[in-house]
Parts: sequence; C-alpha cells; structure tokens
Amino acid sequence: MILVFLGPPGSGKGTQAKRLADRRGLPQLSTGDMLRSAIQSGSELGKRAKVLMDQGSLVPDDVVVGLIRERTLAPDCRDGFVLDGFPRTVAQGQSLEAMLNEQSRKLDAVVLFEIASEQLIERLSGRRTCSKCGAMYHVFAAPPRVRGVCDRCGGTELVQRDDDQAAVITKRLEVYSAQTAPLIGFYESRGQLARIDAAGTAAQVATALEQVVSAL
Ligand code: AMP
Repeated sequence: MILVFLGPPGSGKGTQAKRLADRRGLPQLSTGDMLRSAIQSGSELGKRAKVLMDQGSLVPDDVVVGLIRERTLAPDCRDGFVLDGFPRTVAQGQSLEAMLNEQSRKLDAVVLFEIASEQLIERLSGRRTCSKCGAMYHVFAAPPRVRGVCDRCGGTELVQRDDDQAAVITKRLEVYSAQTAPLIGFYESRGQLARIDAAGTAAQVATALEQVVSAL
C-alpha cells in the first residue's frame, strides 16, 4: 500500500504516519526527517538544506525527489510505504506520479489532514522532540509522564525544533498555503483524495484514519 499524508505543519500527519506505518509494517518516509539526518551528519546537502529549513522555506524539488526516489527502491519499501511531508509542491506530485509509473506501482490514496490554522500555531509552538529517539510530545496536550524525561527511552533532552519558533511557524504556514495546498486540487481531480478531520485527539484521528485506510 502506498499512501501520501498531506496537511499543514502541525496537523499531526507525522504522528499518524508513524503509528499507521508501525501497525501495518510499512516504512514511514518523512522528507523532513531525512533532511534533519543530513543536517546531523554534516553533509553538504544537509548544510544547504539547513539554511532553507531554518527560515521556513522549502528545499528544492530535485533534492527531495532524489531522496525519495532512492529510498523507495530499498527492499523494505517493496510492499509499500507512507509518505509524510512529500510531495509538498505540484511539481513534486508530478515527479512522484512519474516515478511510480516507472516502477509500475500506484498510489492508493492521499489523506488530507484538515484543521484550522489557529490550532496549528498552538500545536507547533508546544511541540517537543526527544533528541535521542525522536518521540514527540506537546507541553500541554501530550507531556511526558515525568517532566523533561522521554517516556520511551528515558532521554532527558526534549527539544524544540529550530523551525518551530513563532516567526518561522508563520512562514511555514504561508509556504503551505502558497506551495503545498494546490496539491489538494491536483489529487482531487485524480479522485485520489480522502479527507479526515485532524482537529481531535491523536486517538480520534487514528480511528478516522483506520476507517479510511481499511476502506481502500
Ligand atoms: P517537516 O518535518 O515535514 O515539517 O519538514 C521540515 C522542513 O523540511 C520543511 O519546512 C522544509 O524546509 C523541508 N522539507 C521537508 N519536506 C520537504 C519537501 N517535500 N519539499 C521541500 N522541502 C521539504
């Protein structure tokens, strides 16, 4: 099964992609995570991407398309994958379509996470990530059991992403409206779009998502 999760930053698509991917035994392919790994490794690509990511802009289409192309050819992607944060422009959507055609595969569905923008700012500014294992928390909505300590691995560095600072959040939401939202029409016209209400709790959204995915 090949799925795309589409939605603004903070809509919960990363959390749900991880969850669904674990349940179905499919890899979650997050271009944001791939780029953050490149930054950590100190590679040239990482250095170039960091400048753009820190200001809330998108990295060039050919960079992310190249990352996805290579990753989808790995053996663990044979039975499918969940794309989280890719595509983010219509050009990326067209490249994905061409790439899947070349591989004689097809996209099963694009799940659109719908949520009001006021809620996004609240979610993004409270978001924290364990620097050791990547587990995600929210200072109010989903804090760890012990303050400052990761439930999953016991790590004690729960950090805010550089691009979750207020000024950058506003820019990322603008970039989403201008560059990513046109993908909604792109996939709607192909009859591939399924919408879910992303305003509820993670458990409620997971239930809605299961219903959509089970019906495919
Ligand atoms: P994310 O973790 O998905 O919120 O992505 C964080 C940042 O990585 C974005 O704000 C972009 O700068 C960059 N990025 C991630 N995915 C893409 C993509 N598909 N196209 C362009 N830039 C991306």
